[in-house]
Amino acid sequence: MNPTRVLVLNSGSSSVKYQLLHMPHGDRLASGMVERIGEDGGPADHDAAFKLVAGELTDDGVGIDSPELAAVGHRVVHGGTRFTEPTVIDDGVLAAIQELVPLAPLHNPANITGIKVARELRPDLPQVAVFDTAFHSTMPEYAARYAIDRQTADTYHVRRYGFHGTSHAYVSRAVAGLLAKDPSEVNVIVLHLGNGASASAVRGGVCVDTSMGLTPLEGLVMGTRSGDLDPAVVFHLARVGGMSVDDIDTLLNKKSGLLGLCGDNDMRNIGHRMAEGDEAARLAFDVYVHRVRKYIGAYTAVLGRVDAIVFTAGVGENSAAVREASLRDLGSLGIEVDTVRNALRAKTARLISAAGSRVAVAVVPTDEELEIAQQTYSLVEQ
Ligand code: ADP
Repeated sequence: MNPTRVLVLNSGSSSVKYQLLHMPHGDRLASGMVERIGEDGGPADHDAAFKLVAGELTDDGVGIDSPELAAVGHRVVHGGTRFTEPTVIDDGVLAAIQELVPLAPLHNPANITGIKVARELRPDLPQVAVFDTAFHSTMPEYAARYAIDRQTADTYHVRRYGFHGTSHAYVSRAVAGLLAKDPSEVNVIVLHLGNGASASAVRGGVCVDTSMGLTPLEGLVMGTRSGDLDPAVVFHLARVGGMSVDDIDTLLNKKSGLLGLCGDNDMRNIGHRMAEGDEAARLAFDVYVHRVRKYIGAYTAVLGRVDAIVFTAGVGENSAAVREASLRDLGSLGIEVDTVRNALRAKTARLISAAGSRVAVAVVPTDEELEIAQQTYSLVEQ
């Protein structure tokens, strides 16, 4: 019997999530999370966090030592232009991920630590990197380029990469399944609305545009990130406001978006506050939804023909109000939502469009760990 289990490690700046999946069906055998890395009461650093994860994976025969483990799949945030596919990690690949740290200074170092610890614990196993940027690497050059001096852009690797690619890949494929079509037959707009948020335009299974850029700051309004703004805002805050580059980085990434607009980055609380007539919460909601609508319009034009719009991640899966407001009065684009279906709460992939809607509207729970496990397993199964 060949080993059929895949351990998926997803390490963020302050947490490590893990799942053990039984392939090829993806049944979950174990899962967990170590949080508050570097904070009071949490492990001191990522090294310590990964050792805690390895310790948790010792019960019930699901240990990291298990001979049934086929591979470890690592989420890696930035693959630059080099990594466009899941990749078995060797010293050269690890060095290349290290070289990409300036493009993802918070994320890639955490991913690298996870890879190193897993390699130490199981040097015999294939370790596979699955990149958040990879699904977007098919964007045409005119969508990936910023209209700035080409030489400067090339010297500093300034271009649009896009993120959340694993989710966009999974969800765009899943919605094709929901429509009983092959992914190659459908054009899809994916709205991944979590704490981070991004949209993508997917033509026949291939990503042709996405809203995040050089970093995850561009695009939609997010929990704490501004999304799109005039880049001159940065010069203005530096020159007139006397703020440093680091101050502005923190402002735009950590203190903006919904949080900046109303002091709350959780859409649930914003909903409760709106119900009580809170003006700031209402404005934050309206700014958020207005941006989503703009991207729907833009990607409708990019794709020409849209077969499906799909909502995913925390807000997309759970907020009927955001979905309804994002698509209200878009009958002229062939988009009609069934209000009853939209309001139903469910954990499964489902259609929420009205019977006569030309564009299907769907809610699909994302599953980045399953996607990583599938991509990892497809590389290592014999
Ligand atoms: P992350 O980007 O951290 O993975 P998630 O995809 O889990 O985030 O999304 C988290 C966000 O989802 C929360 O900040 C919250 O705003 C939103 N959310 C979760 N549940 C609900 C709900 N029932 N209604 C509205 N928003 C929700």
